[in-house]
Amino acid sequence: MGKRWVFLGAPGVGKGTQAEIVAQKFGVCKISTGDLLREAVTQGSELGQKAQQYMDRGELVPDEVVMGLVQEKIATCLNGFVLDGFPRTVKQADLLASFLEQRGQTLDQVVYFSLSQEEIIRRLTGRRICTQCQAVYHLDFSPPRREGVCDRCGGPLQQRRDDQRETVSSRLSVYEAQTAPLIAYYRERQVLAELDSSGSVETVRDRLLALLNRSERA
Ligand code: AMP
Repeated sequence: MGKRWVFLGAPGVGKGTQAEIVAQKFGVCKISTGDLLREAVTQGSELGQKAQQYMDRGELVPDEVVMGLVQEKIATCLNGFVLDGFPRTVKQADLLASFLEQRGQTLDQVVYFSLSQEEIIRRLTGRRICTQCQAVYHLDFSPPRREGVCDRCGGPLQQRRDDQRETVSSRLSVYEAQTAPLIAYYRERQVLAELDSSGSVETVRDRLLALLNRSERA
């Protein structure tokens, strides 16, 4: 039986980094809608061109577009998945629930990554991404060995366009208005667990694995 998790939280809380670790450890797919959309933008597909306008403004891409990408991906993940950055609206959560229901599946757990606003802004504005392999760095917390160069593949590092200060504040307001209601949504459905996301990648990883193992035994 596969595992099906959702990692929920504001942009910059470290969901993506932890999703990568969990996906490797448990052999499940990491499905990041932000990565899928950025890939479509780079490819310049019709979907990508449409998505880019929203992303550059820090707004959400329409629910149906994102849901299409997620469905396609979930269908290939027989061993389970961890969703990173999806769902981001109640509509997306409902669409996901009915899609899984059709497949006779439910979510095992939704992990809510909590972090102070001040720390979120520090993490987002210092973040750098490899343009080739999407590896994530931080100027202060996890800098690459050579400035501007990816340790993993040697590709050039860049700041995401939407990690610039002006866009960060609109992304955080969009999060509060459209995504934060999912905390109550999943709490009511009794699948929510809250995770303190402060501290180093390793500290958060250990807390997260303890939480996932606890639920496994429950
Ligand atoms: P992220 O990498 O998760 O921070 O996502 C970057 C941008 O992609 C967001 O600011 C949105 O414009 C778009 N995006 C990612 N995931 C979703 C989603 N589930 N629904 C709508 N838009 C999304």
